[in-house]
Formats: sequence, structure tokens, C-alpha cells
Amino acid sequence: MKTLIIGAGPVGMTAALAMRHASVGGDITLLEAAPKNTSSFSDRNIALSLASWRTLERVGVHVEKDAPRAAISEVDVTQQGVFGMLRLRASDVNESQLGAAIAYPDLKAALDRALEREAINVMWNAKATRIEMNANRATVHLETGEALTADCVVIADGANDETLMPTFKQYTRDSGQIAVIAKIRPAKPMPGIAFERFTQRGVLALIPRAAKQNEALEWTLVWARAKDDAARLLECDEAMFIDDVNAAFGSTMGALSLSSKRTSYPLTWRFVEPRASGCVVAIGNAAQGVHPAAAQGLNLGLRDAAQLADALTTQTNVSQALSSFARARAIDRATTIGFTGLLAYGFDRGGWMLDAPRGLALTALQMIPPLRREMVRRLAL
Ligand SMILES: Cc1cc2nc3c(=O)[nH]c(=O)nc-3n(C[C@H](O)[C@H](O)[C@H](O)COP(=O)(O)OP(=O)(O)OC[C@H]3O[C@@H](n4cnc5c(N)ncnc54)[C@H](O)[C@@H]3O)c2cc1C
Repeated sequence: MKTLIIGAGPVGMTAALAMRHASVGGDITLLEAAPKNTSSFSDRNIALSLASWRTLERVGVHVEKDAPRAAISEVDVTQQGVFGMLRLRASDVNESQLGAAIAYPDLKAALDRALEREAINVMWNAKATRIEMNANRATVHLETGEALTADCVVIADGANDETLMPTFKQYTRDSGQIAVIAKIRPAKPMPGIAFERFTQRGVLALIPRAAKQNEALEWTLVWARAKDDAARLLECDEAMFIDDVNAAFGSTMGALSLSSKRTSYPLTWRFVEPRASGCVVAIGNAAQGVHPAAAQGLNLGLRDAAQLADALTTQTNVSQALSSFARARAIDRATTIGFTGLLAYGFDRGGWMLDAPRGLALTALQMIPPLRREMVRRLAL
């Protein structure tokens, strides 16, 4: 069997490795638009769940021993100025960590090494422009004019405006919000804790960053704000910005200071449907986009990659395998998009009519261990 995977991002690379490890067999080739060694991976801080780290280990992705990781053993969920608090702890599910964050380049380097070890072929400068179905196979047309035919084509090209497969429809909705992103240095760091705070102007996440020995501990701030409000926050002077952050987050980690430039990311709600047709399937950000405040996008994409490999091993008919993959992924996809959407767009409104029920819901989850454990299990395992 010949498989073409379009996009050598973390999801495409993991899919290739998972297929090789699941003995899907045949020739697996990754097509990547960028030239070799482009540092297309930003210095984004990526928090991965325990389950994602286990998936990566299982498919042979081992991060260098000296590559720092920030373990996350607790997620604290609070509301600005209102009652209600939820602590999700690894100990709730008898684990020492819920997951860990890593710098994107370190993750990319580990994926590159694993691909090389498995001798998986990557074609660089190979931008796909169109996919054409022919009977049981599909042909991928490249910008170079070349055309490659395969028995299975996996679209893992990330969040593009248009899908390569004409019959896959992309549904998008502008949330009206922008995520403001920056590195934050607290006066009293609390290692191992990530924070989600419903502020009066949008959900604010602080995710611990991996640090080398002797480096100051930092957190990544992801703060969803209405567009005009975000523009103001990005343009105002640093002192004003950090005052706003401190006022919204409170004093849990002492005074917070800004330790990087501010950047932004548009918050668009997006999914592709159908995601599978004949021998073509979309995975990762090519299939859906979720809000970065919940740090779930790559976690969801890695589950896509692992389950795609499973589906292709258990069924020999590619088209049937891809249909059952799409069916099997539907619930996880819908609940993750729903959960992150609710967190970002539903829980950001203030006023006692919403603050009170939200506070009660958080308190109820905190007080009812089975419910809390179920939530932790869903996030981490
Ligand atoms: C600020 C921020 C913070 C985040 N934090 C987290 C987090 O903490 N935890 C988490 O789980 N997720 C997080 N995410 C989400 C995560 O970064 C994405 O889900 C993940 O990168 C998606 O991987 P991917 O491989 O699907 O797509 P991408 O990473 O976009 O990779 C797609 C690849 O396809 C290539 N490509 C594109 N078009 C073509 C083409 N036509 N032909 C060939 N190749 C092509 C691209 O060059 C690229 O290499 C965050 C996102 C943002 C924006």
C-alpha cells in the first residue's frame, strides 16, 4: 500500500510514525510545503496531556534528556472577583502528572529524529495544490507540476483557508475574539500548576513553560479578548498591559511581570465535514481548530494520528477503515470542540446571572470527587 501524508507538522509526522509502528505496511511518504530545516515551529509552548506523551513514546518519539519539560500536576480554575474554585489534580487519578509542556522546537527535533530512525521519506518543497480521486486511489497534484498517486491520502496540512479535497467542506465562525499571548514571570512562581481564570473580559490561561536549570520560571499567558479590546492590549504600553493582567489574575503568584513581546492569534471556530471520503482523510488542524486557551489542539490531533493508524491496521479496505475512523473520532472531536468553545466563548460573559451558576458548577465539581475525577481523566488520560 502507498500512503501520502500532506503536511509534516507534528500531527502528520506522528501519523506516519504511528502507521509504521502499527505495521500498516507499504510505502509512507510525507509531503511538506516548506524547505528542509525551516524553523516553521515557533517558540510556542505546547502543553501535552499524559496520554499524548504516552502516545509519542509508543511511536518512538523520545525527547532529549536535556530538553526541559514543565510538568503539570494541577490545573486551578477560578473566576475573577466571584466565588467558585476547582482544582484538578493528578493525584485524583493516581498519577504524578496531568501532562507536561515543552518548547515546540524541542518536540519537533524529537519527531525529526524518530522519522529519520524509521527511514520515513519526507519530500520537502512539495506543496500540494489539489487532490483528485480516481477509482480506489487518489492523485495529489503538487505546485511543481508533479502528480503522485496513492492508495491512502492523509491531509495534515494544518489550518488552511481551503481544503485540498473539493468535497470536504470547511465550516468556520469568527468568534469575535483574539488571543493575546505573552510570556509572564511571576514573583512567587508555583511550579507544576496551570491556571484557567474566567475574567470579566474573557478566559485567561497561564501555562507553565519549560525552563533550563537556573532560568527564571515563566508561564505562557493566553488571554481571549474581544477584537478591539485585544488591539488595545497589544498596543498599549507594557506597564498598562501588565497592570491589566495583574488585576485580572490576582495575587496567587505574587506580582506578574512581562518577559516577552506580545503576540496574538485569531480565534476562529472551525471544522471540516465530511473528513473522510474514499481513500482520503483529514486529521489534526486540517480537520478542526480549537481555542488555544484550553491547550487541547495538538492533544486532539495526536489522538487522530494514533486512531487512524489503528483503523488502518484493523481493516484492510482503506475506504472502510477511513469511514470507521471518522465515525469513531466523532464524539471526541465534538466534545473537545464543544468543551474548548464553551470555555472560550460561553464562559467569558460576566454578570451575576452567569457568574453565580458558573461558581456553583465549579464548586459542585470540586465537592463531588467522582465528577472531578472524570474531568481529570478526560483531560489527562
Ligand atoms: C498560541 C498557541 C498555543 C497552543 N498551545 C497548545 C498547547 O499547549 N497544547 C496543544 O495540544 N495544542 C496547542 N496549540 C495547538 C497546536 O499548536 C496545533 O493543534 C498543532 O500545531 C496542529 O498540528 P498540525 O500538524 O495539525 O498542523 P501544523 O502544525 O499547522 O502543521 C501543518 C504542516 O503542513 C504544512 N503544509 C501546509 N499546507 C501544505 C500543503 N498544501 N502541502 C504540503 N504541506 C503543507 C505546513 O508547512 C506545516 O508544516 C496551540 C496553538 C496556538 C496557536
